[in-house]
Amino acid sequence: MTDKNILKEVKKWQELLGLQDWNFIIDPVKNSIISDHGELAKVYISEESMSAGIVIAIDLPDEEIKRSIQHELFHVVLHDLGSTFNDAIDLLGVESRTALGSRYNKCEEKLVIKLERLIDKLVPMEESRLEEKAEQ
Ligand SMILES: [Zn+2]
Repeated sequence: MTDKNILKEVKKWQELLGLQDWNFIIDPVKNSIISDHGELAKVYISEESMSAGIVIAIDLPDEEIKRSIQHELFHVVLHDLGSTFNDAIDLLGVESRTALGSRYNKCEEKLVIKLERLIDKLVPMEESRLEEKAEQ
């Protein structure tokens, strides 16, 4: 996938998710895994500057790159929630931060995956609806 098409895909999801006032910086990496945990992409969010840096593996099929972009932008949408959680957990002390922080991250990851699967179901439904409309 070309850098131009990656930016196009980011723009698409930025609009669909209402993130137009955010600034995205894409860092394409020619390595199919960008971390020790086997991730294909990672997002670094700066709330103050409303910017997000996405490090993304690009030596993958287009569909996987598109999925990574979608995935990381869902994390940006959920950032306010995570940020509020972090403020709350600060009041509870260090041990709670470690235990609950990892639980929170797992919950957020599960939610992002659920959203991805929802989109996977909705897109074919919308496509067949459009096809039916065209046949009429
Ligand atoms: Zn994730």
